[in-house]
Amino acid sequence: MKELIKYYGEDVTTIVYPFDEKSMEKVAPWKCGTYELGIKENDEFKVLYVGRAGDGSGERGLRDRLEEHLWEKQSGKKFVEITYFSVNCCNDVLEAFNEECKGYHKFKEWMGTAIYNKIHPARPTGTDYPCPVEGCEELD
Ligand SMILES: [Zn+2]
Repeated sequence: MKELIKYYGEDVTTIVYPFDEKSMEKVAPWKCGTYELGIKENDEFKVLYVGRAGDGSGERGLRDRLEEHLWEKQSGKKFVEITYFSVNCCNDVLEAFNEECKGYHKFKEWMGTAIYNKIHPARPTGTDYPCPVEGCEELD
């Protein structure tokens, strides 16, 4: 079920899992981190959405967030074509925010308008963290 795969058009690999409940129970902890949702095409992983979960102060972790996206897919609201996901656990909110920002900029560049993220990742509540990507002015 777990699969090592190359990112679309890149020489970088990642591990993806089928976008279903069983995989989420196994690999998505109730912890802070980032995730990618996408599809497999010609043995490459095309990322269509990048997100983060678990900002502390009672906010939910990766498992909860991914299950919510699965429910959105099953009810036909959103993410209907998603078939694979990846997870990346982080130590804290700042790390998750940095990872999410880097992913957002990278996949926007690779995928253009195909990516579902239409706006820049928000800063964690109550913080003033800058985007780690050089030259980014989207949070100003
Ligand atoms: Zn940015």
